[in-house]
Amino acid sequence: MTTRPSTPANLQGQVVLVTGAGRGIGQAIALAVAAVGADVAALDREPPLETRGRVEALGRRCLALRADVADRSAVEAAVARTLEELGRLDVVVNNAGIGERLALEDLDEPTLQRVLDVILKGTVLVSQAAYPHLKAQGGAIVNIASVSGMAGGALSRPADTPGERGGRSGPAYAAAKGGVIAFTRWLAKDAGRYGIRVNAVAPGPVQTEMTRGFDYDVVAQPISRMGHPDDVAQAVVYLASSMSNFVTGQVVVVDGGVVFD
Ligand code: NAP
Repeated sequence: MTTRPSTPANLQGQVVLVTGAGRGIGQAIALAVAAVGADVAALDREPPLETRGRVEALGRRCLALRADVADRSAVEAAVARTLEELGRLDVVVNNAGIGERLALEDLDEPTLQRVLDVILKGTVLVSQAAYPHLKAQGGAIVNIASVSGMAGGALSRPADTPGERGGRSGPAYAAAKGGVIAFTRWLAKDAGRYGIRVNAVAPGPVQTEMTRGFDYDVVAQPISRMGHPDDVAQAVVYLASSMSNFVTGQVVVVDGGVVFD
């Protein structure tokens, strides 16, 4: 699979599992991979029925799966259902995540644990469950990291309190996303021999529920706007498809130029 040179995006005949596919960036990823031919296993904490309807409207099959990515047995059951009902698994997109904006001194242990569980442990568990199936035929894993995991996060301030001091996404979030990047590189080194490419996308501020109510200093960015979920989704199509057949272990930063210097 990865021994072939790169080609235009085409995921026809392939099955892509997307976590956190119910809204935001995950939903945009599900629609973007479907638009280039993939069938989709859309996983979220509640079955993502709206995403399923929109993928099916594109003429592709879609399974709406309920699982918490931090729950090993639920993740394993979701992967098993994907194989049973869609017949194969070619690409995994680890997108599910939760935000956290606390000061270090305010970070309580349950919050720390949950952020690490959903973002970092979830990425490892879903990759683990899918790995034997990807190994059998080759494939790709794309992990959604963040600029927070590279540069400590983009500054923002609550939109409804203009005088409020700005803050960054929090320490647990940054640590978890940094861990996702390290895991991406570790797995890329292991997976190459099986024809599996493993990469990450690191978005800057993107307009979704996660950033609602916060203003970002986008004027200072070379590309002066918030990101759109499609900006991230198209980078995922590149990394998921044979467009990027000679690319592995990389972090593609999609942030309008926040992490520039
Ligand atoms: P979002 O709008 O909050 O969507 C996240 C989705 O993930 C929701 O559908 C959520 O379901 C689901 N989810 C949360 N915890 C889950 C779990 N344990 N198991 C399964 N699904 C779970 O966020 P988003 O902005 O699209 O973010 C998507 C990814 O991009 C996240 O990893 C995030 O950290 C990353 N990211 C976002 C930005 C940004 O500016 N928006 C920037 C950098 C990176 P519920 O509705 O049940 O919570």
